[in-house]
Amino acid sequence: MNMNSIDQLKNNARNNHVPIMQDGGIKFIKEYIKDNNIKTILELGTAVGYSAINFASIDKDIFVLTVERDQDRYNEAIKNIKDFNLDKQIRVELKDALEFETDLKFDLIFIDAAKSQYIKFFERYKHNLNDGGVIITDNLSFHGMVDDLSLTHNRNTKQLVGKIRKYIEFLKENDEFETTFYQIGDGVSVSRKKKLD
Ligand code: SAM
Repeated sequence: MNMNSIDQLKNNARNNHVPIMQDGGIKFIKEYIKDNNIKTILELGTAVGYSAINFASIDKDIFVLTVERDQDRYNEAIKNIKDFNLDKQIRVELKDALEFETDLKFDLIFIDAAKSQYIKFFERYKHNLNDGGVIITDNLSFHGMVDDLSLTHNRNTKQLVGKIRKYIEFLKENDEFETTFYQIGDGVSVSRKKKLD
């Protein structure tokens, strides 16, 4: 992997205000992929391909299917993925993740699309998990606002924080999945399907 270019990709995205994963979060998921021998990943929210490129670069046996609804970001992601010669390992779908469907199964599902829809994404794709697979979600801290709502006075942002809090409750109360929360990056959760006794 060419570290300079991946850093360039990160800096370009940040300079253009594309909301890509924070360094701590990306490091955490990359370690998780390596430690757990993850080979197939479904990502909701491609943006310009930064996280998908990071994941696929770990090993040539890793396949990432990633879904993005924004045409311009999709175009940019396709270009970036080609530049990294990863177009055989990463497939990008231009589609709303609330409409996209696949029969494929994955070792890891990574939710990083619209924060207001996390529960819907979780419910929609949980059947796409392989046995022992996990759903990882980013942005559960939402820049600290989930713990401290006084950090924002914006009504829309407050509503979004409310939705993230609901998602956290949904995960905590979920009978099917066991979730661990990590104060890493912008707040990450790892949800694993419980084994039936
Ligand atoms: N995973 C990317 C990374 O770290 O490089 C960042 C993804 S960014 C936080 C979220 C992306 O999800 C945006 O580009 C947005 O257009 C896309 N998005 C939001 N809601 C979506 C939906 N319902 N279906 C598909 N894409 C969606």
